[in-house]
Amino acid sequence: MPAAIIDGKAIAESLRAKVGAEVQRLQREHNLTPGLAVVLVGENPASAVYVRNKGKQTVEAGMKSFEHKLSESVSEAELLALVGKLNADPAVHGILVQLPLPKQVDSQKVLNAIDPAKDVDGFHPMNAGRLSTGLPALTPCTPLGCVMLAKTVHASLEGMNAVIVGRSNIVGKPLIQLLLNENATVTVAHSKTRDLPAVCRQADLLFAAVGRPEMVRGEWIKPGATVIDVGINRVPGTDGKSKIVGDVAYAEAAAVAGAITPVPGGVGPMTIACLLVNTVRAACAINKLPAPSV
Ligand code: NDP
Repeated sequence: MPAAIIDGKAIAESLRAKVGAEVQRLQREHNLTPGLAVVLVGENPASAVYVRNKGKQTVEAGMKSFEHKLSESVSEAELLALVGKLNADPAVHGILVQLPLPKQVDSQKVLNAIDPAKDVDGFHPMNAGRLSTGLPALTPCTPLGCVMLAKTVHASLEGMNAVIVGRSNIVGKPLIQLLLNENATVTVAHSKTRDLPAVCRQADLLFAAVGRPEMVRGEWIKPGATVIDVGINRVPGTDGKSKIVGDVAYAEAAAVAGAITPVPGGVGPMTIACLLVNTVRAACAINKLPAPSV
């Protein structure tokens, strides 16, 4: 039987609707409108598209969106000054600095300057540390979305063998902790892993976050496994135009897996939806309100 397709677009839409309902409740009951500030530096076209989508979806969910566009030549000091201003602004509950930043700016220094309470990307070491010690934390959006997608297939991930391919700070590492929190048994593979296909074949849940087009083959997948493909890779298409593919060879994998995310339309849409979730969570925490229902 071919794999069930995990429709990230539809799941993200329903999550955004829940966020919208929470925003209305916060406005009604507490006169609070969550606000998200996004900082875009330079003219990177992919970053500009992400930022535009984030702004649009923030407004559609009833929140305030503040966009700050800075030139490619901005100095680190100017960027840090803007982050300081946003940290102090009571209308801003979430701050996101779109990466990558230009060479003259130390990205980690800028991320570290964001108030951890407003760090809706969850990249601040304080939030990473809190997550790994089991304390409440703002969690990176993509891994958060991955776990939500897996849980649309399996009500509980407890005791499942989860394999993550990739150990980046923004996807693989936070995913380890989120899956441990779900009581999954977690294995992390990376570029130095021996016999990656054999490691992947152990997975009831396979997460591919590598950045290599269609690297994970169908024969690496345990029959019936759930496959979550984080990869976004632009490759030449047959029609001369480029197309987006994941880190998993989709057609092969879909013939073996029990459930699989497509690319595009899988993890991607969940990332922005989770950013909105984090903004609502941050707004509640900053205002000392109970955690929202999303
Ligand atoms: P990074 O480049 O930061 O990390 C890639 C990871 O893959 C590293 O841990 C690396 O191992 C591992 N790796 C590389 N080659 C191999 C290999 N041959 N075998 C096994 N492991 C390998 O990438 P990101 O985590 O930032 O992103 C991963 C993918 O996810 C990209 O395609 C990116 O575009 C996409 N992405 C999608 C998002 C979304 O919203 N859907 C959001 C973020 C990312 P090592 O550590 O040993 O070098």
